[in-house]
Amino acid sequence: MTDFDATRALFHIPDGIIYLDGNSLGPLPLAAEARAATVLRAQWGDLLIRAWNEAEWMTLPSRVGDRVARLIGAPAGSVAMGDTLSVKVFQALAAALALAPEGRRVVLSDTGNFPSDLYIAGGLLDALGRYELRTVAPEEVAAAIDEDVAVVMLTEVDYRTGRLHDMRAVTERAHRAGAIAVWDLAHSAGALPVDVTAADADFAVGCTYKYLNGGPGSPAFIYVAPRHADVATPILSGWLGHAEPFAFEPGYRPARGVERMRVGTPPVLALSVLDAALDAWDAVDMTDLRARSIALSEAFAGAVAQCAPSLDLASPADPQARGSQLSFRHPRAYAVVQALIARGVIGDFRAPDLMRFGFTPLYLSENEVLRAAAILGDVISRDEWDQPHFHARAAVT
Ligand SMILES: *Cc1c(COP(=O)(O)O)cnc(C)c1O
Repeated sequence: MTDFDATRALFHIPDGIIYLDGNSLGPLPLAAEARAATVLRAQWGDLLIRAWNEAEWMTLPSRVGDRVARLIGAPAGSVAMGDTLSVKVFQALAAALALAPEGRRVVLSDTGNFPSDLYIAGGLLDALGRYELRTVAPEEVAAAIDEDVAVVMLTEVDYRTGRLHDMRAVTERAHRAGAIAVWDLAHSAGALPVDVTAADADFAVGCTYKYLNGGPGSPAFIYVAPRHADVATPILSGWLGHAEPFAFEPGYRPARGVERMRVGTPPVLALSVLDAALDAWDAVDMTDLRARSIALSEAFAGAVAQCAPSLDLASPADPQARGSQLSFRHPRAYAVVQALIARGVIGDFRAPDLMRFGFTPLYLSENEVLRAAAILGDVISRDEWDQPHFHARAAVT
């Protein structure tokens, strides 16, 4: 059994805070703080440029990639780290289109997908000039996969509602229709068991600053199924994805396997912090994680139904049909979230009317989620949110 008291002790959680926003920015792992200090002084400071070899900075992306691979059911050597998720969506989609059958014109996604994924797809398809981005309601995706579809590009867990796609079933359907499947695991990696191998995904991408606690702007990951890794075209053909970067050849030759998805100089500070953050997962069993995530979210949902019965659940009521978050509708959701934060309960707001709460078993207890629900009940029943300063919108919500 995973010891969740032990994992909690690995994080800095400020006193008086109940943190229900680890789905947006995971908290600081203590090991990350220590690693950052070492990388800054002992590596960058003392070793200077020798650190690329002596501190093994150059292999850091692959070493961290192997640690992320384990959390998403991918074999070692199939995940590359770097850039941001938006960039990795671009790379994965471009590579998927190049592998799709000749003559297909449609990239299929759903209307619940994260805007950046749709923007990036739109921009890429405009540049390529011969494709159409088609979005349908999440429930209609499977039925919309037909012989025109080149690529099915979906986010497994909906960032607003937490609704979970059946990655395996949808991928199978895509493959039967001859299409390539690209999965965004932004709200899946570290949130629930993921098995890209069993699901037979062609490509998967995700970020590491949410449930993986890598810190603000920590690097993204890209998985390429081993069967595609030596033929996939890395549209961003940067020197560090070259077969021999230090040969400085005039022409591009892709590196073997997923290494070709590297682009430029790795973000060493951020990757080092992420590497330390991933220590927290070493003794975590993902089946235990899922069971506890469901227990926490069910405890919260049950308590909210009692303490704040006027709130509508915007997430699937069946815990098996959602990721590790719950969202509730309120016409003044933004102000309610600000009032909660003032009481030490940090969740977030998603336009137009959702308050969103993430359940992260590594550092949350049932006691905390019950207290958070009681505070939410107070904020609603006493109209605590209805004060002018809670309505003023900050730039980041
Ligand atoms: C969080 C998130 C992003 C953010 O992309 P960045 O490039 O890291 O800013 C993109 N897609 C999805 C589905 C997300 O949840």
